[in-house]
Amino acid sequence: MTTGRFAPSPTGRLHVGNLRTALLAWLFARSEGGQFLVRMEDLDRVQSSTAHETDQLADLAALGLDWDGPVVRQSERFDLYHQAVVDLSERGLTYLCYCTRREIQEAASAPHGDPRPDGAYPGTCRDLGRRDRADHEAAGRPPAIRLRAQVAELPVPDLMLGEVTAVVDDVVLVRNDGTPAYNLAVVVDDAAQGVDQVVRGDDLASSTPRQAHLADLLGLPRPEWAHVPLVLGPGGRRLAKRDGAVTLPELAALGVTATDVLTVLAQSLKLALPGEAVTPSLLLERFEPSLVPGVPWVLDPAAGVTL
Ligand code: GLU
Repeated sequence: MTTGRFAPSPTGRLHVGNLRTALLAWLFARSEGGQFLVRMEDLDRVQSSTAHETDQLADLAALGLDWDGPVVRQSERFDLYHQAVVDLSERGLTYLCYCTRREIQEAASAPHGDPRPDGAYPGTCRDLGRRDRADHEAAGRPPAIRLRAQVAELPVPDLMLGEVTAVVDDVVLVRNDGTPAYNLAVVVDDAAQGVDQVVRGDDLASSTPRQAHLADLLGLPRPEWAHVPLVLGPGGRRLAKRDGAVTLPELAALGVTATDVLTVLAQSLKLALPGEAVTPSLLLERFEPSLVPGVPWVLDPAAGVTL
């Protein structure tokens, strides 16, 4: 049975773009009679809060989306991520990296620097000598742990995009403050939770080859991926909170109900006529993955979310 998921970071209210991605992930999974899980990606302990988590779950429920089992929180699963790093380290597939963010940027933009695309890590600490390492340690620089990637690039199949080929660099597995990194946690969690279908925004498409490689090295099954177009705001930028009324409470204050929002989302997915009242189960009957629009949906909240 298919198991899909929605994995928001509980750092604020979900906006219309997040809700559309959640609806799509739900439709993909449920239309195959599959399970649908919600996982809170709360590794960022400063931005995340249980209050945001409660709000986000309320937003999903308001649209009529349901999920199976308890909501999982990444902040409670550090042991799992740690085990994966130990496994990789024991096989010589990790190394300590002392670079600061600025040093990485400078290395990438230096005239004779390694011109790696996509902000990829240039490999500065990959083969650090014992003396350099001792210098960094003596200077009190805390190290991050990076993957020693075994490929430079990888093509991965994608239900929406056909195939995604992107750089696989030595991704950070554990940040220099000891926090597990997103790419590690997402790979470990999807496998541990039996997720075999990942539907998410296409801003994450270029991270997918990295995640596929990490799954391969950990001996974990790869899920199937479907990267769906983002919702864009005015000017073609990714929709953001600054664009106006984009969350359910903000829209409610303008008299736009959650049911209205479901209609608009469904309409944007060609699953409803303008103004037609719909329910998630009606949308399930109409949903066909191959008919999901492959282009971004542009919304101008300042002009009023036209319902
Ligand atoms: N937590 C990520 C986000 O909110 C999504 C990660 C994923 O779906 O793999 O953007």
